[in-house]
Amino acid sequence: MTTEIQNRIKEVFEKQKDFFGTQATKEIAFRKMQLQNFRKVFASYTDAICEALQIDLGKSRAEAEYVEVQIVLNELDDMIEHMEEWVKPTFVKSKPHASGAEVISKYIYEPYGVNYIIGPFNYPVQLTFSPLIGALMAGNTAVIKPSENTPHVAQVIEDIVKEAFHEEYVAVFQGAVEENSFLLTLPFDYIFFTGSPKVGKIVMKAAAEQLIPLTLELGGKSPTIVHQDADLEKAVQRIAAGKWINCGQTCVAPDYIYVHESVKDALVAQFKSYLKTTYHDESLGKIGKIVSQQQINNLASYLEAAPEKVIYGGKYDLDTRHFEATLMTDVNWDDAVMQQEIFGPILPILTYHTIDEALKEITSRPKPLALYVFSEDQKFADDVIARTTSGDAEINSTLIHVGSHYLPFGGVGTSGMGKYHGKFSLENFSHQRSILQVM
Ligand code: NAD
Repeated sequence: MTTEIQNRIKEVFEKQKDFFGTQATKEIAFRKMQLQNFRKVFASYTDAICEALQIDLGKSRAEAEYVEVQIVLNELDDMIEHMEEWVKPTFVKSKPHASGAEVISKYIYEPYGVNYIIGPFNYPVQLTFSPLIGALMAGNTAVIKPSENTPHVAQVIEDIVKEAFHEEYVAVFQGAVEENSFLLTLPFDYIFFTGSPKVGKIVMKAAAEQLIPLTLELGGKSPTIVHQDADLEKAVQRIAAGKWINCGQTCVAPDYIYVHESVKDALVAQFKSYLKTTYHDESLGKIGKIVSQQQINNLASYLEAAPEKVIYGGKYDLDTRHFEATLMTDVNWDDAVMQQEIFGPILPILTYHTIDEALKEITSRPKPLALYVFSEDQKFADDVIARTTSGDAEINSTLIHVGSHYLPFGGVGTSGMGKYHGKFSLENFSHQRSILQVM
């Protein structure tokens, strides 16, 4: 990284500090106008976004529109419609003053200032722009660094930002570890990171050096419990949709299944028949591409470590970066595939005899980003949720909570900290400042 680029980054950072200091970004009319303008520009890039996603990740047009473009547009519409109502000061009760004077108490959503948003590769559009619009709704400026692993998308992100904003308000710097490390030395007012727990630690350490508040949107192994009374046909369809979208590269994808031993054979049979009819594809390309050859090799190593456990799929092509939807059974916690987040289309199946033993294993491990439970018994499902923790959870479904801007989304512990989407983005990207006045 040249000194010239470093100076350029510092120059833009200073410009954003100055611009934030003018108070312009705090004006509600300004924020609304910027989001409306961004909506127009962003929507006009739909073709370019979908083409770039096809090249970098093999996403189909329908998938790209549904899980990348539409999610950002829905969030934008919700924010534009409700922003004025959300950002109003909240008046609360006051404790009496010793002198008997009247006291007024309220809190306001105050923007932090210059934000730094670091994006991952897997949903590179949605996971860069959803935080951005939250930051702008709250009255901040932002610098974005998209993932270097989806270079075509990163270029489109830069093009959109350049067309929609001045750089003193929003700017993009492309790059990888070196650029990110340099950017993390700047005194940002807030950092929003989406990526792996490993890099999350690096980002958090850098933030700690300057005591910069931050959000970490991380990952982990999200368990999927299938109880003996689950509707197996529905369960398979809904688990498959969450697991194999984007070739398994989804932060909240079901990482593994924990099924009651009495229905394991029936579940496996159901999966096999569903995979044959819905996912079979000689070219292996139906579910998208793995981001890199290195990751294909990681995934392949899980299969090579226990080939006898691979009961469906297992084929891959290093050149095209395709990897088949794959099932493993009779898996246990010592298997290589259970040692870290899989982040690929391999679905291991473990069995339990009693739910207590399954929950003991789950809760003795790092807190996952999502937890899914399939059961027709509401009490059983509620009990599983009550006795575990995870960023978020679903009953009889997977993945779709992320797409709802009515729900706060985020992790807990090793799967992250901080929640966003919809109104929760305002809370995430604002400092709640209490103001007390004695009359
Ligand atoms: P990653 O952690 O490898 O990279 C994320 C960002 O960090 C990239 O912009 C990258 O340039 C930067 N980076 C990588 N190594 C770095 C280093 N050593 N120093 C400084 N910066 C560095 O993550 P990824 O591979 O892009 O995404 C996959 C991970 O992200 C998975 O763990 C997944 O679960 C998680 N994820 C979480 C969410 C969520 O919303 N919680 C969403 C998507 C992905």
